[in-house]
Amino acid sequence: MVRKKENKVLLSSRDSLLIERIDLHIHTSFSDGNYSVEEAVKIAEIKGLKIVAITDHYSEVQYRSNRITRSQFSRYVQTLNNFTVLKGVEVEILQDGTVSISKNKVKELDIVIGGLHSINNIKFWGDYSPIWNPKRFVEKVRVTLIKSMESGILDVIAHASWLPEIIRKETHRKITKDWIESVVDAFCDEGVAVELNCAWKVPDERFVKYCVKKGVKLSIGSDAHQRLMIGKTNYAINILKKMKVPEDFIFIPTSLF
Ligand SMILES: [Zn+2]
Ligand SMILES: [Zn+2]
Repeated sequence: MVRKKENKVLLSSRDSLLIERIDLHIHTSFSDGNYSVEEAVKIAEIKGLKIVAITDHYSEVQYRSNRITRSQFSRYVQTLNNFTVLKGVEVEILQDGTVSISKNKVKELDIVIGGLHSINNIKFWGDYSPIWNPKRFVEKVRVTLIKSMESGILDVIAHASWLPEIIRKETHRKITKDWIESVVDAFCDEGVAVELNCAWKVPDERFVKYCVKKGVKLSIGSDAHQRLMIGKTNYAINILKKMKVPEDFIFIPTSLF
C-alpha cells in the first residue's frame, strides 16, 4: 500500500492478483466512516491491499453534515500524509453538474471521485420520496453526470448508474442501452474512469462491456463506511474476472507512475 515511486515495482510486476489488492474508495471518521484513518490503514494492511485511497466526502460549496469542509481540508491532507495511502476525496456532483471542490485543492490530492447523491432534493439513499416521472429523473441524472465530467476535475465517478431507493428496483429498465452509451461516451471523451462500486453493486455488465469497448478505465472501490467493508471489492473482482477484462483497463492514479 504505497504511493508515488515506491509502487513502481508492484505495478511493473505482472501480479495477476493486482485487481484483488486495490481499493480506491474508503471513508473514515473525517466524514461518515466509523473508524479513524489509522484504523483503516491497519485493516487495509492486514487484508494485503497494495493500492489504497482514503476518499472522504468533501464539500466546500454547500453545507451538508458529515462532509469535510474547506477549513478542515488541510488537517485532512496533513493526516493522510502520515500514511502510505493515496490522498483522495469524494466530492458532490451538484444538480447543475458543478462539483464541490475548487481547482487549487485538487492539486494536493492523488484522486478526486465525484458522487451524485441527490437530485431535485431527493437523496439517493434513505429517502423514499416519490418520483413522479422516473424517466425524466433518469434523464436528469444522465445530463448531470456528463456535465460534471466537463469540469475537468474528476478522475473517477462513483456509482454512476445508482438510482434513488424508490426507483432502484427498476434500474435495469430505466437505465437503457442509449443512456449507458451516452454516459460512457462522455467518460471516454473526458478521460474519466468509471468506478465499479462494490457497496451498491453498480454499474452492471452491460455498462462495463461498453466501457471496455470504448477503452474507458475502470476503478475499483469498496465505498467502505464500516471496518468490515474495507477491501471488500468482490463485486468488481467478479465482474472483471467474468468478463476477462485486461489488467490495463484498471484505473491507477497517475501519481503512482
Ligand atoms: Zn457516494
Ligand atoms: Zn463514497
